[in-house]
Amino acid sequence: MAQREGSLDAPTRHPLDWKSPSFYDENNLNKELERVYDICHGCRRCVSLCNAFPTLFDLVDESDTMEVDGVAKADYMKVVDECYLCDLCFMTKCPYVPPHEWNLDFPHLMLRAKAVNFKKGNTKTRDKLLTSTDAVGKLASIPVISNIVNTVNTMSVTRKVMDKVIGVHPDAKLPPYESRTLRKRLANHNADHIQITATDNTNGKVALFTTCYGNYNEPHLGEDLVAVFEHNNIPVKLVKKEQCCGMPKLELGDLEKVETAKEANIPALLDLVNEGWDIVAPVPSCVLMFKQELPLIFPDDENVARIGKAIFDPFEYLMLRHKDGQLNTDFKNSLGKVAYHAACHQRVQNIGAKTRDVLQLVPDTEVDVIERCSGHDGTYAVKSEFHAASMKICRPVVTRVQKANADHYGSDCPMAGHQIENGLNEDKQPEHPLKLLRMAYGI
Ligand code: SF4
Ligand code: SF4
Repeated sequence: MAQREGSLDAPTRHPLDWKSPSFYDENNLNKELERVYDICHGCRRCVSLCNAFPTLFDLVDESDTMEVDGVAKADYMKVVDECYLCDLCFMTKCPYVPPHEWNLDFPHLMLRAKAVNFKKGNTKTRDKLLTSTDAVGKLASIPVISNIVNTVNTMSVTRKVMDKVIGVHPDAKLPPYESRTLRKRLANHNADHIQITATDNTNGKVALFTTCYGNYNEPHLGEDLVAVFEHNNIPVKLVKKEQCCGMPKLELGDLEKVETAKEANIPALLDLVNEGWDIVAPVPSCVLMFKQELPLIFPDDENVARIGKAIFDPFEYLMLRHKDGQLNTDFKNSLGKVAYHAACHQRVQNIGAKTRDVLQLVPDTEVDVIERCSGHDGTYAVKSEFHAASMKICRPVVTRVQKANADHYGSDCPMAGHQIENGLNEDKQPEHPLKLLRMAYGI
């Protein structure tokens, strides 16, 4: 039978086999890296997605043999370090993903290499700190301390010191910390007065997983979500107790910490799901973590699978309500032109362009969708050694926003929004689609 160039079957993703002894075997890992790097070298489709592929192809092209066998094993990690697990290569480009016989899952291989590196103790203190979003958020949001942290993070003198001492780039935008966190703001929130309407696809009441970023850095995100949802007669309540979803630790390769976070979050979410609540979170990476990553890391955990099916992207949820005739489309204000960046971690959820679909319901509103990576990744853009590459990845997005000359711009991922803002280098702030929808409702 003639061999096909790529698979024509629907892609499937195998669970991450991280409990097997061979997962952490370095020789075994290097063999797999060599096999996959060689396929990528022959293909090169992903060259424009991120800096991991150009790094690999440069290593090959500059080697003596100009093949992967000429690349020193010690340099394999240079490629891994450039990958921030956006999943785009797997989800949007690669024809060799399972069920293709080459069985290629580039992001999961990068994750495995990161996990091996972490186990070997090679991870920088800075990276451990940057991915401790919960602990840093708790400390930095204490009143008075938040003022100090925010001042230090915006002064050029201290930023130069941070660059030298801990490797945080002076030009990277660091999010401010709020002492009035989202959980504090919503602590006494009560939506008992709302008449719940369940539909075929939704239970009509949602529990909000605030996320570290939504809680400590941009609480208005969650406030906008509550306003929009309750304007649509969907009561919102806080998840009683939450920890970081584990995505930052996943990107570090610290799978044991991912498991600790999973064990803390899943029981609390399960109680809510058992009481008929759907779950939403305002940051795409955190939704993705529960929807896709945790089920692949813990394939035998039925509770993880249940939460994966019960958590929604906010716009996915609103569109499901619309499908069932339950979305309020009585908009008071048009939005004009919106340059909207579709976040990678939302795109790879395979839910379709739901943010665009909802915003387009607003009369006299034109949505220009930008489907390119912003290069932020939560921590990649912040690190001194990667900041320039992250801005280069973001440049096509920035150019599209500039050309759109839109009334508003923004992304589902608030960090991507600020990365674009950094590239634009002008006063105009990004506006999250939830904020835009709230404006359209005039609430
Ligand atoms: S997962 Fe994203 S960052 Fe990593 S190699 Fe693929 S496209 Fe690049
Ligand atoms: S990940 Fe797949 S599509 Fe991308 S360069 Fe490698 S083989 Fe080609």
